[in-house]
Amino acid sequence: MTTHAQFASNPGHALSWYAATANQKSVRPALQGEVVADVCIIGAGFTGISAALELSERGYKVVVLEAERIGFGASGRNGGQIVNGYSRDLETLERRYGAEKAHALGAMSLEGGKIIRERIDKYAIDCDLRHGGFFAAFTQKQIRDLQAVKAKWERHGHEHLEVVSHEDVASYVKTNRYVGGMIDKRGGHIHPLNLVLGEAAAAESMGAIIFENSRVENIGTGNEPVVATSKGTARAKHVLVCGNAYLGKLLPKITDRMMPVSSQVMVTEPLEPGLIESLLPADYCVEDANYVLDYYRRTADNRLLYGGGIGYGGQDPSNLTAIIQPNMLRTFPELTQAKIDFAWSGNFALTLTRIPHVGRISDTVFFSHGDSGHGVTTTHLLGKILGEMVAGHAERFDIWASLPSLPFPGGKTFRVPLTMLGAWWYGMRDRLGL
Ligand SMILES: Cc1cc2nc3c(=O)[nH]c(=O)nc-3n(C[C@H](O)[C@H](O)[C@H](O)COP(=O)(O)OP(=O)(O)OC[C@H]3O[C@@H](n4cnc5c(N)ncnc54)[C@H](O)[C@@H]3O)c2cc1C
Repeated sequence: MTTHAQFASNPGHALSWYAATANQKSVRPALQGEVVADVCIIGAGFTGISAALELSERGYKVVVLEAERIGFGASGRNGGQIVNGYSRDLETLERRYGAEKAHALGAMSLEGGKIIRERIDKYAIDCDLRHGGFFAAFTQKQIRDLQAVKAKWERHGHEHLEVVSHEDVASYVKTNRYVGGMIDKRGGHIHPLNLVLGEAAAAESMGAIIFENSRVENIGTGNEPVVATSKGTARAKHVLVCGNAYLGKLLPKITDRMMPVSSQVMVTEPLEPGLIESLLPADYCVEDANYVLDYYRRTADNRLLYGGGIGYGGQDPSNLTAIIQPNMLRTFPELTQAKIDFAWSGNFALTLTRIPHVGRISDTVFFSHGDSGHGVTTTHLLGKILGEMVAGHAERFDIWASLPSLPFPGGKTFRVPLTMLGAWWYGMRDRLGL
């Protein structure tokens, strides 16, 4: 790997291409002493910052406490893919929760992407937005599954998907690995760290205060819960817990319903413009249809950003490039000589249902986490919904909070090996084309 010496350092972040190319690198102060606000938000990822922005727009006094840096977690490290919908398809939601709830969730399923685009526009956020996503199929079975997904979305009134044949794959990605795929014109990709930084700056412009390096160690209950870090306290009428996979042991009552899972991302050196354009001619982002999937896209400076791999329990593997590079070369053998400039890992929160876990800890403390690998859009939606909840409009929050959440089988000791076994089984089915 080359060094990152050509970029100004960005302490406290993973050594990622995102941190190296962030629009803002200055560190916000840590909380000292006492602050009083209407709402205290724990965690400055997409969920927390989306809620902060929604509430700031509504005129609330907001304070955000972030253990590390804004976007330190999954929000500043992900593949940057704007994937509409949830980590379970609408058919599964209907079977599980009934037609009425599935319909309500279906009606919200494009809103996250819409919120992102509206905010980029409204606050002139410079985060390399590109439009269009491609879901790649290895087998005819996956094509049939994509066709079924498209039909279901159309029943909910969404007309933005198109299944494409083998011959048309080359318009989106130049590889012989896929038999076809599906395009989503309302998908797309962004520089996620610059998006969350831009949204944070927008909230700050309306009075929100964001403290970095301020890990919350205790959350009180009652009418005005006091939230404590090692150096200060925040007193607020409402507390929103948005720590996701990085929450640790803060609230064992809710964290036993999610498991941190790591995914790995690698970025090449800048490629010849002609080469990267030939590999991804439409500049769509791509993810494949396997259970453990590869996801990739172009960056604004003509690199290939390639992700994949999975680590249940949130392990941070030391040999990141060795995990991802062989997959990249299977997709694009012409990149054998391409140098890898960056590789990093990050954790998302997985729930057993693969649907976010949203709810109340008390009358004044609420939480949302567990987007289960597809969270760029859902976190924006749920952050907004947390804001609506605080503002007294609980209807949509209550729909999410009513969805049952389940602890992982096997308790603390066996939940990781049992989940790995399940993933191995689904991975095997993909390899056998079942
Ligand atoms: C490598 C990777 C690739 C991904 N790719 C995609 C993709 O391409 N498309 C997609 O849709 N989704 C993707 N995801 C998922 C998506 O990034 C996440 O679902 C989403 O960013 C979660 O946002 P969040 O705000 O809930 O959590 P996070 O972004 O993890 O933010 C939580 C924040 O809370 C802070 N925090 C935790 N505990 C405390 C505490 N006690 N006190 C103060 N602060 C605290 C953390 O430091 C962190 O900054 C990916 C995830 C990973 C890890």
